[in-house]
Amino acid sequence: MKYPRLLGLSLALCFGVTSVSPHVSAAQTIPSPEEFFGHQMGADRQLVRWDRLVAYYDTLGALSDRIDVRNVGTSTLGDPFLVIFVSSPANLANLDQIQRRNSVLQDPRGRTQAQIDDAITNGKVVFVQGYGLHSTEVASSQTAAEVLYGLATRTDEEVVEILDNTVAIMIPNMNPDGNVIVTDWYDRWVGTEYEGTNPPELYHHFVGHDNNRDAFMQNTVESQYVAQILFRDWTPQAFIDHHQMGAYTARIYLPPYAEPIRPGADPLVWREMSWYGAHMAYKMDEVQLTGAIGSAIYSGWGHFGFHWITPFHNIAGMLTESASARLATPLFVQPDQLGGSRQFPEYDAQTTFPSPWPGGWWRVRDIVERQIVASFSPLEIAAKNRETVLRNAYNKAIRQVERGREDDIRAYVIPAHQHDPPTMQKLVDKLLGQGITVDRAIRDFQHEGRVYGAGTYVVSTAQPKRGVIRWLLGQTYYPDNSFTRDRDGDPIRPYDMSTDNLAEFMGVRVDPVTSPVEATMTGVYGEISASGTVSLGTNGYVIDGRLNDSFEAVNRLFAAGVAVRRADRDGDGFKAGDFLVGPEAEEVVVEEAVDEAGVDFAPLDSDGAAASYPLTPQRIGMYQRYYGGNMDEGWTRFLLEDFEFEYTTIMDADILSDELSERFDVIVLPADSKRMMVGSTDAEDDGSSTVPPEYRSGFGEAGVDALEAFVENGGTLVTFAQAGDLVLDEFDVPVRNAVAGLSGTEFWAPGSTLHVRVDNTDPLAYGMPENALATYLAGGQVYETVPGPRSASVKRLVTYVDRDILQSGWLLGEEAIANRAAMVSIEKGEGLVVMIGFRAQHRAQTHGTFKLLFNALFDRPEAPVQ
Ligand SMILES: [Zn+2]
Repeated sequence: MKYPRLLGLSLALCFGVTSVSPHVSAAQTIPSPEEFFGHQMGADRQLVRWDRLVAYYDTLGALSDRIDVRNVGTSTLGDPFLVIFVSSPANLANLDQIQRRNSVLQDPRGRTQAQIDDAITNGKVVFVQGYGLHSTEVASSQTAAEVLYGLATRTDEEVVEILDNTVAIMIPNMNPDGNVIVTDWYDRWVGTEYEGTNPPELYHHFVGHDNNRDAFMQNTVESQYVAQILFRDWTPQAFIDHHQMGAYTARIYLPPYAEPIRPGADPLVWREMSWYGAHMAYKMDEVQLTGAIGSAIYSGWGHFGFHWITPFHNIAGMLTESASARLATPLFVQPDQLGGSRQFPEYDAQTTFPSPWPGGWWRVRDIVERQIVASFSPLEIAAKNRETVLRNAYNKAIRQVERGREDDIRAYVIPAHQHDPPTMQKLVDKLLGQGITVDRAIRDFQHEGRVYGAGTYVVSTAQPKRGVIRWLLGQTYYPDNSFTRDRDGDPIRPYDMSTDNLAEFMGVRVDPVTSPVEATMTGVYGEISASGTVSLGTNGYVIDGRLNDSFEAVNRLFAAGVAVRRADRDGDGFKAGDFLVGPEAEEVVVEEAVDEAGVDFAPLDSDGAAASYPLTPQRIGMYQRYYGGNMDEGWTRFLLEDFEFEYTTIMDADILSDELSERFDVIVLPADSKRMMVGSTDAEDDGSSTVPPEYRSGFGEAGVDALEAFVENGGTLVTFAQAGDLVLDEFDVPVRNAVAGLSGTEFWAPGSTLHVRVDNTDPLAYGMPENALATYLAGGQVYETVPGPRSASVKRLVTYVDRDILQSGWLLGEEAIANRAAMVSIEKGEGLVVMIGFRAQHRAQTHGTFKLLFNALFDRPEAPVQ
């Protein structure tokens, strides 16, 4: 059944042509999406590919004086990334002035009252909307075309007001590559039994669905493009990210969020979200688009992706989530399949859900219609209340500055003296990427009893971005209360991590201070990149093994064929873990490694041969599987490429090829369930019958045997978190997982940073500080040695401290992990298994523990004779 009645109402709302407008002539020549593509957006089994959408947007840009299409760069796989500015022709001609006024309101520090009054009276609301971030949530990339057409052509009062009073910045696809991957996959299988199944691979080349977990770190280029709009160039008043959720609950989730919320934003942000959300929901029911809900399902304490971090930038950062179909294929939903969710206990009418959808056919067009209303209605209310929205912008910003002046913590000091200074520079760059004001001390100073060197960075909390600073740099305790426990007292898993502290993830020391810092400082602008120096000694060079970037330098030397040694004990001018390079290394190669990696090549003036061993570039195999791909695999790949490790992706056929030992020295199993790696023999059981046969994966028992033989023959197998089950269950090792099977009340650490001790005398932990923070996620492992004669084969490389283990996040039952191992190596046959039970490389964010992976990818000295 279709919904012609609803459709008609929706079209009448969107395309009523009543008023006389100077823009009317353009409308006659601009093709509608239906005219351009030959079908309505969201029509059954029709997905428009990004290249054709780009052609349409270019056409809109060429024909409409309300549309300014900008190609801001290329995506990870080389597709154009568009940002489209929509406003009245007069406003578009005046964007620079609008941007200047916007910046006055977003950061009123040092502005005159006249400037502020002018910005409120004459400014425009800047409102950003993003579509298509999650590519299997197919509707919104299609919706965007119809929304943009409506904005380009409609001449009714509502749209004229939007154009006059707002600048709508539309990001019509936040992940263009994924639209191409999903559209091609869908079109390939439409009309077969595999129609509507998800593609077998990640729909972002590196990060898949995690592309919305990257706003605070900005690892991907797509995140960098969006961050430039949201955090630096504009800082809009509102942002909406349009998504889809599961098929069997409300039809569309609208703002505001459910409990708990993360504190620290200006309260007006939350009130604005409720205000926009109420209007969106009202508009849905006005045109009888049923099934809208707010204040439920998505808690306000989420990950630090764009819609959840923006509230801490004083932006009303919102989310819509529509029920999904099967990609572009309609789905029939029976009434008894519909159910509630968080703060939505029953699928029945309630205040925030007055029009339950009754079930039936659900189509992408149904989603598109709701997303059109969800896109126009907040613009409409922002336009009607332009001055209020702009005054709020000023109030939010200035009040956060004032709160910062009263905070217990007045600043975060990032000392110049660090274990890994180039990584500290990266942290500062990430803060600048958020548009945070950072100052740099130009000479030494003392503060609260500590001496800080020149080059120390200071981040005052008395600035508009106080909220985001607090969460990126401040110790964080996730709430433990009735919002986060169920009726039985069991903890409810947070939406994502329970902390997002950049400094803790990155292993950078940051000191919170309780009084304002008085020092001679200068503002820091633009990216600061660490630059290294070269100084040749009589015996060559030393590269500091404590720096992550030294591994990139060494990988560059490897690529150029330069011999590199690694010190295995302290010597004259170097220490264990440092890299030694002979004087014969070509100057041009050294210079380039220094430039690219940003680390010093210090002079080596002693013979380090006896205190070092030669490094051989290792042949690394990264295991990858189908079934939608594995984000941890993608992120690990991203990290290896970032630090210039050569690697080979291996799939089941490689594992089963009998050539593992000949082809590889190291194999990495990213965090994954054993079942996903090994596969199931029961196709019904794991749903693999719905996947085309050539995209089913699982290396089976034969693969397990092959991996064990690889280790026995001298290979190194690295496992992250739950991937370790493969070793624990199948390899007969004298280690077990101390937290296996524990309930949430017995042990619970969902995305927390935990204190560990590191045995940095072992080559697998060279360069690490003795005390560090491990990022632990649900599903991780903690190791204890089992009694027996083989205990000596186990090396406890990283262990949890004995008490007060939590740094940030949420931890229950710390006695379950106290003094137990977070990372072990186990000798087996001629080889080694390296098991990292936490996420040492999580989302390429945990720089503080990258070296634990990197070391495992380098070879080790021959074992000393016992
Ligand atoms: Zn999504």
